[in-house]
Amino acid sequence: MSDRAVSQAESAAPPARRLLEVDNLHVEFRTRDGVAKVLNGVTYHVDAGETLAVLGESGSGKSVTAQAIMGILDSPPAVITGGQIRFQGRDMLSMTAEQRRLIRGEGIAMIFQDALSALNPVFTVGFQIAEQFRVRRGMGRAEAKKRAIEMLDLVKIPNAKQRVNEYPHQFSGGMRQRVMIAMALALDPQVLIADEPTTALDVTVQAQIMDLLAEIQRERRMGLILITHDLGVVADVADRIAVMYAGRIVEEAHVHELYEKPLHPYTRGLLASIPRIDEKGQELRPIPGLPPSLMRIPPGCPFHPRCAMAQPVCQEKVPPLLQLSPTRSSACHFAEELANRD
Ligand code: SF4
Repeated sequence: MSDRAVSQAESAAPPARRLLEVDNLHVEFRTRDGVAKVLNGVTYHVDAGETLAVLGESGSGKSVTAQAIMGILDSPPAVITGGQIRFQGRDMLSMTAEQRRLIRGEGIAMIFQDALSALNPVFTVGFQIAEQFRVRRGMGRAEAKKRAIEMLDLVKIPNAKQRVNEYPHQFSGGMRQRVMIAMALALDPQVLIADEPTTALDVTVQAQIMDLLAEIQRERRMGLILITHDLGVVADVADRIAVMYAGRIVEEAHVHELYEKPLHPYTRGLLASIPRIDEKGQELRPIPGLPPSLMRIPPGCPFHPRCAMAQPVCQEKVPPLLQLSPTRSSACHFAEELANRD
């Protein structure tokens, strides 16, 4: 096909189906010690067939956003004070508990970083997977077990027919994470949220799990939200990246744009602090300082105490998330200047 024909075909392609939207979400944790402003206007979305990586240090709000989407925030102390979460255009925050329960698993499912504590040690993995088919699909025991074996096959657990009868402690860390993925996928969700799914695993197993998630995401055309603090993990699998800091999105871009030219000093700092094989001998430059306490977020740009580019305006005005192109946005007063630099 000629370039022109390719571009015509691309422009004729239907727009991707928007599955999930988080819109200006605010969450506070009201504790005896004070109010922590944990999310301060988080906005992102994921479409069918794409992977959005949500990246940030501990405490940036990545997991809290995911818990708010799933409706599993501990409340109290968590209170959603503003914003919307829409699944296929429907506002989830105004749904009944039963409506949300039905979306969990079939619409949106989640896998957690610590598979051992997420699995029940006293039941076989087969029982735990099959339970979803029994409870949510009304299947009998034998049929549900057969489906559990199929799910273990899907996540490439060898000898699934035998292993379906084993307990979580009989699986290695990587295999347990595969079981968690099988459980999350059992009801064929349209959106999968993976919260640091490989953190507890060694590097080789990490790569295998990421490959598996990417393969299943492509095959099922799911929307995948991959939460991580590790830029290295997302380079090969994400389509877009949203970077979070102090409960806000500070930069969003297609993955290659973000790696080539980050337009927020925090993202630049994250990239400078990871080792690169094409820059042998270069010193790693960690970001100085620590993320702010969410009970005392600095005025203006919350990153200003750590930012080498900070100017007086940064201490006074909160930078809005500025849309710089259809695919890029940055919450920095100097984003346009950074975009125009070579
Ligand atoms: Fe740094 Fe100022 Fe941009 Fe914040 S607004 S990231 S402090 S330059």
